[in-house]
Amino acid sequence: MPESIPVEKNDQIEVTFSDLTQDGSGVAKVDGYTLFVPGGLPGEKAMVQVLKTKKGYGYGRIIELTQAGEERTTPPCPIYDQCGGCAIQHIGAKGQLDYKREIVRNALERIGGLSGVQVDETLGMNDPWHYRNKIQVPVAQQDGHFAFGFYKKRSHDIVNMDHCIITEPIIDEVVQTARRIAEEKGITPYDEAKNRGVLRHVMARSGKKTGEVMVVFITRTEELPFRKVLIKALTDAYPQIKSIVQNVNPKRTNAIMGEKTKTLWGRDVIYDQIGDVTFAISARSFFQVNPIQTEVLYGKALEYAGLTGEETVIDAYCGIGTISLFLAKKAKKVYGVEIVPEAIDDARQNAELNKITNAHFEVGKAEEVIPKWQEQGIKPDVIVVDPPRKGCDAALIDTMIAMQPKRIVYVSCNPATLARDLKLLTAGGFEIKKVQPVDMFPQTMHIECVVLMSRVGK
Ligand code: SAH
Repeated sequence: MPESIPVEKNDQIEVTFSDLTQDGSGVAKVDGYTLFVPGGLPGEKAMVQVLKTKKGYGYGRIIELTQAGEERTTPPCPIYDQCGGCAIQHIGAKGQLDYKREIVRNALERIGGLSGVQVDETLGMNDPWHYRNKIQVPVAQQDGHFAFGFYKKRSHDIVNMDHCIITEPIIDEVVQTARRIAEEKGITPYDEAKNRGVLRHVMARSGKKTGEVMVVFITRTEELPFRKVLIKALTDAYPQIKSIVQNVNPKRTNAIMGEKTKTLWGRDVIYDQIGDVTFAISARSFFQVNPIQTEVLYGKALEYAGLTGEETVIDAYCGIGTISLFLAKKAKKVYGVEIVPEAIDDARQNAELNKITNAHFEVGKAEEVIPKWQEQGIKPDVIVVDPPRKGCDAALIDTMIAMQPKRIVYVSCNPATLARDLKLLTAGGFEIKKVQPVDMFPQTMHIECVVLMSRVGK
C-alpha cells in the first residue's frame, strides 16, 4: 500500500481495470492504490471521477469508457444502473460464466493454497432471464408517492419498477396487479422512518413444474384494508393463484416477514417438484429460487454421491430436506440435520408427502448433532454439506475427517469459505476430484459450486 493517497476527491483520471469484486465493481490500481468503480471490467480502460478516498482504498465512477472489453453488453433492464438487484447485466452470458469460474479458481488458489485444481466450466442457463420463482417487492411512501420496487445499492431508497426481467413473468405480473389495486384503493404504504402505514412488501412465488402461484401481503397492521377487493381481483385474473396469505410484521426491522401468518384465501401452501420429489412450500419456507438450476446443482450432487442403494448418507445443513429427499430414493438411509425447527417440520412433512421412509431428520447444529450420531455408531459412506455463507464449523470438519466417509460432496454458495474448508479436508486425508460451479443466479455475482472429494486411497 502506498504511503500517501495518490488521488483526491473529484480528480479525473484514466484507469485500466484489473479485477472484479464480489459485488461486481471494477478494481483499478493507481500507483498501487485501489479504486473501486462500478461498471468497470478487467482489461477495460475508462476516464473515472474519484468520489471518495479512504486510507486503503477509494471509490469512483465512470465518466467515459475509453476502451470496452469483449464481454461487455448493453444491459436490457431500463433501471439496471439504479436498481441494486442485479450487479452484472453489463457482462454477456459467457463472460459471466467465465468470471464465476475464475473467482472459484482464484479462491482455491489464494485462500486454500490449492493450486492446479481443475475447475470445470460453469454450468449456465440457456435463457438466463425470467428464472426467479420468488419476488418480494418493498412498498414505501416516497416524495409523497406510492413507491414499488427494489432498493438502490446500499440504501433504502426505492427505484420504481414495472418489470423485473430475472423473475418468472407470471409472478412479475401478479405483483404489479396487486400494486395497481393497492395504489388505486389508497392502501397506505409503509413508512420506515416512523414505523407507520400498512403495506410493507408484496411477495409472490410460483411452482415451476406445477404452475401454482402464492401471493403474500406483508403488513405492519393486523388489518389489510380492501382485502376482499384484492382477493377477488387477483383470483379472477389469475387462476394459477392457489394461495393468498397475509404476514404481519409490526416491528421496526429489516427482516421482511414477521411471526404471524394467516391464510386469506385458498391453501396455506403451494406445491412444486424438484426431480420427481414434491415439496409443499409455505409463505415462510426457504426454497431455492432458481428451479431449473436447482435440478442441475442437485443432479451434480447426486452424481458425485455415487449412490447404488446401499449407502448411508449424512446431509448437513439440510434446510427443508431438499437434497436429502432428492438422494433418499437412491440411498439406503439419509440423515439430515438443520438448525431451524420449522425447516425440519417441513422436511418431515415433505418426506411423508413423497412416501419416503428412509430419511431421518433432526433439529440442531450440524457440529453438535453429527458427533452424537458418530457416538451412536452411524457410519456414513457419503457426507453432503450445504452450509450458509460462513462455511462449515471447524468442529464439523474434524468430525467429518474422523468419520472417514468414502466421499464428501460439498455444496457451497461462497468460494472463500469453500476454499478454507477444502484446505482443512485435504490436510485431513481427502482429495479433490471435481469442482463444478453452477450459475444459480445469473446477472448477479452469486456463485454456487459443488465439489467432490474422496478419501485418499479409496
Ligand atoms: N440444503 C438446503 C439448504 C441449504 S442453506 C437446500 O438446498 O435447500 C443452509 C442451511 O443451513 C439453512 O437452512 C440454515 O438454517 C442452516 N444452518 C445454518 N447454520 C447451521 C448449523 N450450525 N447447523 C445446521 N444447520 C445450519
